[in-house]
Amino acid sequence: CDRALLAARGIKGQYGKYFAEYDDALRDQLLRDQAITNSMESALAQNQFEIYLQPKYRIWDESLAGAEALVRWNHPEWGFQSPAQFIPLFEKNGFITKLDQYVWDKACAVLRDWDDRGLPSISVSVNVSRADIYNADLAQILMKTVQKYNLPPSRLHLEITESAYTENPKQIIDTVGHLRDLGFIIEMDDFGSGYSSLNMLNEMPIDVLKLDMKFIQNEMAKTNSQGILQFIINLARWMHLTVVAEGVETKDQLVRLREIGCDYVQGYYFAKPMPRNAFEVLFSEKRQLEQDLDEKTLQSL
Ligand code: C2E
Ligand code: MG
Ligand code: MG
Ligand code: MG
Repeated sequence: CDRALLAARGIKGQYGKYFAEYDDALRDQLLRDQAITNSMESALAQNQFEIYLQPKYRIWDESLAGAEALVRWNHPEWGFQSPAQFIPLFEKNGFITKLDQYVWDKACAVLRDWDDRGLPSISVSVNVSRADIYNADLAQILMKTVQKYNLPPSRLHLEITESAYTENPKQIIDTVGHLRDLGFIIEMDDFGSGYSSLNMLNEMPIDVLKLDMKFIQNEMAKTNSQGILQFIINLARWMHLTVVAEGVETKDQLVRLREIGCDYVQGYYFAKPMPRNAFEVLFSEKRQLEQDLDEKTLQSL
């Protein structure tokens, strides 16, 4: 780090103003990273990390099907921090392994509580960092977590980003294949953002393709749109994979995704990630919806 700073200073001497700005930005970044690193352990101990839940819906009837758990950092001085501000750093300094375990535990605790209260038994998706894949204890840790809360592994969906698959396909096939054998549902996150070949897709131990938000937006913006998306969805069907579209923001996107056979949707069009008590309100809406449907069915008999 110091070396990078010194290098930036040296260049600054030669190129003046432009690099002075670069120097300042770099220094600010290093200072920020250092401050985050200094406070992450105590933040975990003081419960400053919290999970937010974003609902996932079945595309054909827009009924609630699950949730994705997304971490938030509520820092007493800096305020609310979004994952983009700290996850990349935690992936570099290794802290992500601890934080992810904390998030998985919290997600399972929520599922246990919902079950105990007789609420609908949906699944929760958690993110598994690329760094976790190299943790030899990963399977054991995940099994212990679901067992602690007396849940079948299938209630926990594991989201692993596409680029982790291309980075080290062999490792993924071993590690993630084992997790899948244990009963966890495996989702390839951010599909379409990286360069996984379709050939590789067929060899990967996955259950769900989660289409990247940018990928969907880019494809739909093209004049001759939907070709690639339709192709991917057909391919997924042929491989017996479920397809989730993330980052759905408009009605138009929803309608078109339904037309081409996508299974589930998640995005701001429906709801942003929210604290757990706000999420629970969705359950009563779901119940009401189901009751209304039952009544309609009865009336039609
Ligand atoms: P991701 O797993 O792909 O999660 C989806 C991100 O897109 C979330 O951002 C979510 O809030 C956002 N999003 C959902 N719908 C929409 C939409 O309609 N429009 C827009 N513009 N955005 C939408 P978030 O919560 O900021 O998380 C960013 C990334 O940080 C996640 O991407 C994931 O890679 C990582 N992350 C979050 N929580 C965790 C965690 O607990 N562990 C690990 N390892 N990574 C996490
Ligand atoms: Mg995700
Ligand atoms: Mg991701
Ligand atoms: Mg994603």
